[in-house]
Amino acid sequence: MKLVFATHNNNKLDEVKDLLSDSFEIFSLKDIGFFEEIIEDKKTIIENSKIKCITVQQKTGYDCFADDTGLEVEALDGAPGVLSKRFAGLNASSDDNINKLLYLLKEKTNRNAQFKTVISLNINGSLKTFEGICKGTISTKRMGESGFGYDPVFIPNGSKISFGQMTMKEKNIIAHRSIAISKLVNYLTNLYQF
Ligand code: IMP
Repeated sequence: MKLVFATHNNNKLDEVKDLLSDSFEIFSLKDIGFFEEIIEDKKTIIENSKIKCITVQQKTGYDCFADDTGLEVEALDGAPGVLSKRFAGLNASSDDNINKLLYLLKEKTNRNAQFKTVISLNINGSLKTFEGICKGTISTKRMGESGFGYDPVFIPNGSKISFGQMTMKEKNIIAHRSIAISKLVNYLTNLYQF
C-alpha cells in the first residue's frame, strides 16, 4: 500500500522505512513533487502534526502521516515545546537554540525535560495520533556532536551520556520518534494484517 510521509527529512524517512514492512510503499513530499510550504503555526505539537497530514491529504489525495517534535523543559513551563525549531528566533540555528536554553537554565537546579513526538495519520478518511515521549535532563554544557537539534544537551534518563554522544542506532532504541513510529507501525500492521 502507498503512504506519503509528510517530510523533507531523509533521516526520518529512512527510519520509518526501516521499521515498516515491504508491503508499505513510503513516499516523501519530494517523491510526490509536493514543494508547497505548510505553515506550522499552531499552538501545540499535536495540532502542528495534524495540520501537516491534513493539508497533504487534501492537496494530493494520498493517505498520509506526519510528525512534529518538541523539547519540553520543566523549569521553563514546557518551553520551547512547539517553538523548539525557532526558540532563539525565526532563522535560529540549533547552536543558537542551545545557547538560549543553557542561558535560561543557568541558575536552575531542576533540569528535567522531555522530547515529545506526535505522529498523525490520515487514512481511509480518519485521523489517528501516536505519541512518543523520552524523558531526561538538560546538561550544563554540550556533550558530543552526533545527531541534530538539542541532542548535545539532552541526557536521557538511565544514561550518563547525551544523545549527542550516541550513535543513531543507540539513540533510536530509546528515542521519542522511534516510540511514536513503533506505535504507528503496530497500528498499520494490525490494520492490514501484513
Ligand atoms: P521537528 O518538528 O521534528 O522538525 O522538530 C522541531 C525541532 O525540535 C527541530 O528543529 C529540533 O531542533 C528539535 N528536535 C526534534 N527532534 C529532535 C531530536 O531527536 N533531537 C534533538 N532535537 C530534536
